[in-house]
Amino acid sequence: MTSKADILLMGPIYQPKLEELESAYACHRYWSSEDPEALVASLSGRCEIAVTNGGRGMSAAEMDMLPKLRLIACFGVGVDAIDLAHARSRGIAVSNTPEVLTEDVADMALALLLAAVRRVAQGDRFVRDGRWKRAGFGITRSLQGRRVGIVGLGRIGRAIARRCEAFNCEIGYFGPNRKDDVDYRYFDDIVALAEWSNALVAACPGGAATNRIVSREALRALGADGIFVNISRGSVVDQPSMVELLVSGALGGAGLDVFDDEPNVPEQLLALDTVALQPHQGSATHPTRTAMGQLVLDNVAAFVAGRALVTPV
Ligand code: NAP
Repeated sequence: MTSKADILLMGPIYQPKLEELESAYACHRYWSSEDPEALVASLSGRCEIAVTNGGRGMSAAEMDMLPKLRLIACFGVGVDAIDLAHARSRGIAVSNTPEVLTEDVADMALALLLAAVRRVAQGDRFVRDGRWKRAGFGITRSLQGRRVGIVGLGRIGRAIARRCEAFNCEIGYFGPNRKDDVDYRYFDDIVALAEWSNALVAACPGGAATNRIVSREALRALGADGIFVNISRGSVVDQPSMVELLVSGALGGAGLDVFDDEPNVPEQLLALDTVALQPHQGSATHPTRTAMGQLVLDNVAAFVAGRALVTPV
């Protein structure tokens, strides 16, 4: 009988798929280990596989604790928390979970956009608090006919654009490459996109190349009627400026799934009626998390069998 391959688990993944992984391989939970250093030392001579999640990632130092490491399988499409350059330099393959989460994340972007524009959460609290019996809720902005600027017209960005078309919105986008297969308006400058838009949705990857690209200047250009939605990463926006502009009313509203220092959310946002908040739930549905976990299992199985990875980064 051949022994099961060892896997170092850097962080949790969807529980039912974690259980499958743990029954098929010799898995070692780094994140909840009482002595992670001793655990890694015991594995360093043989462990070739690490599984992590998008938020947890894996640093260069963590990779170097495992000299035999050959695969990092990421539960998530965003790999900005994995030191890809270091993985490449060491010949460590990386896999992620693209496509399967696209539609659910786009749904969350629209939920946040609608919630921020129509003040859905505030209306809910208004009814629950019994305030409706004393007065009407008031009038809100509309999503209809808005100009939606998408930062990063990739898989998720395109799925958001398709949904916004159904709400009679005009679509513009910013990104490194103009797309020939869509007739949305292209901007090669994010501030120009924000000036044109009255809703701006960040759907690009995190990491150094996009750090704070949704700048103070871009948010000011979006303006007092503008809504900013972020389902990308907290790092893509200048968060202190965003908070300040929301508080002053220079930015109209926001729908936020991601933050700089999760799970910590700036206190000032909690008091704002113009903001809809989510605890990084974009892909967090049972069908999507099941499919993401299956891709992790499929990539690990391909690696163990010596086949090409299913979804290499
Ligand atoms: P994708 O298909 O690779 O799309 C990424 C898009 O971003 C591409 O269109 C790319 O432009 C664009 N981009 C790259 N660098 C950029 C830059 N410097 N400025 C502006 N745009 C840039 O990825 P995806 O599957 O749509 O996922 C996008 C991101 O969503 C992930 O990386 C992750 O951070 C985030 N996400 C969040 C959640 C959540 O729970 N909130 C869940 C899943 C994913 P080109 O096409 O021109 O190369």
